[in-house]
Amino acid sequence: MTTVRPYTISWNLTQRCNQRCAHCYLSAFPGASAAGELSTAECFRVMDEIAAVNPDVLLILTGGEPLLRTDLFDLGAYAADKGFTVVLGTNGFLLKQQQAEAMGNPGFRGRASASTPPTLPATMRSAGCRGRGGERSRPPRCCAPRGSPFPST
Ligand code: SF4
Repeated sequence: MTTVRPYTISWNLTQRCNQRCAHCYLSAFPGASAAGELSTAECFRVMDEIAAVNPDVLLILTGGEPLLRTDLFDLGAYAADKGFTVVLGTNGFLLKQQQAEAMGNPGFRGRASASTPPTLPATMRSAGCRGRGGERSRPPRCCAPRGSPFPST
């Protein structure tokens, strides 16, 4: 019998998002219900189960926009305590200075954002991919000046 161990897990913590992109595979949007989301305790239990299978997993906490969960940094800290390599998957619009700093505390090792460079086809640059002021996602500006130790993509 073959034993399968996951090495990378991308976890959609919420369908809520501050954007509404036409290409979103999760159909995330600002008014999405949080009723079906796992509670903090339930997320902890899932991470316990993941650790039992592979304590060295690369865990991507994403959504939707995971920064809309008020317990995100508690989840990140718990995952880091488990020994996971924890990465935040965010669109970056809510990644303000305080949040960038907080990411360093609970053990986030990296962050990945889907920005919308002008070279993308028009179909990939829906109006929902822009901030309220029309700006595109530029989260590295939040992190880089702080000398953040984690990489951004
Ligand atoms: S920012 Fe990401 S999660 Fe949010 S609607 Fe766009 S593609 Fe979906």
